[in-house]
Amino acid sequence: MFATLSDRINAAVSSLRGRGRLSDADIAASIAEIRRALLDADVALPVVRDFTATVRERATEAEVSKALNPAQQIVKIVHEELTRILGGATREISFAKRPPTVIMLAGLQGAGKTTLAGKLGKWLKDAGHTPLLVASDLQRPNAVQQLEIVGKGAGVAVFSPEPGNGVGDPVAVARRGVAHAREQFYDVVVVDTAGRLGIDAELMQQAADIRDAVNPDETLFVIDAMIGQDAVTTANAFAEGVGFTGVVLSKLDGDARGGAALSVSSVTGKPVMFASTGEKVGDFERFHADRMASRILD
Ligand code: GDP
Repeated sequence: MFATLSDRINAAVSSLRGRGRLSDADIAASIAEIRRALLDADVALPVVRDFTATVRERATEAEVSKALNPAQQIVKIVHEELTRILGGATREISFAKRPPTVIMLAGLQGAGKTTLAGKLGKWLKDAGHTPLLVASDLQRPNAVQQLEIVGKGAGVAVFSPEPGNGVGDPVAVARRGVAHAREQFYDVVVVDTAGRLGIDAELMQQAADIRDAVNPDETLFVIDAMIGQDAVTTANAFAEGVGFTGVVLSKLDGDARGGAALSVSSVTGKPVMFASTGEKVGDFERFHADRMASRILD
């Protein structure tokens, strides 16, 4: 996804390689090119400003000009600052002291929540947990059936609305799902919720009602990395309307510019915890900001 961004940043820093001392003008030209590359990749302006100001400040400090290899020193600074804007150190899921741990998924329709529920369920199962997926997306036709298929593929149990389970009421389904997990000794509950194509007040209210009903230990905001500039607006709307503890970047296998998704952590102050990289249940990984920075600066 970040091939062009990566090529351009690498070109900007490699133009410094092989030089002895670097002049301030050399450094400024490289930083200006990195800035353009980030903006062209749709990284949000305030994030780019913060990034370039910090790199510039650090690069003009004595550490660089006195270093034996100033270009390498700049690459190191760019790597550290990219890691910082991508959320810094990886954060682990915070499991409840008394199970079940409740993980709620929030995001727009099509963001990849239902797919993620299966991936997360399998990942948890492989780590020795006994997860239960709860189908609280009653908005989209077939979302419940889709979660059941996803659960079957992942070998993970699914709690669906049935007569008596609160058909038509996603808040009741979520609440009953968590109660069911407690009774049946599932130790992690992943609650899939409905999304709309755009942000709307009713969607936010429903997600907030589910949050209040199940009191999640983690709320993961799932964002399609392909949606471009809208990523930041959407993230801010969910941060305000529902609140979340972590971000999942989905569709990182796409070929869109993706930079807006890279801004989400910096803009909301919440770490990216996972990345989805395809439609299959195994196309899923922990997100490590430093590794992503290394991939970009390869
Ligand atoms: P939801 O509405 O948020 O539950 O989104 P879905 O989980 O139904 O995903 C919407 C579409 O995106 C489906 O066709 C998924 O197969 C697809 N999808 C989900 N995650 C990924 C991903 O990481 N990569 C790709 N290429 N497609 C994905």
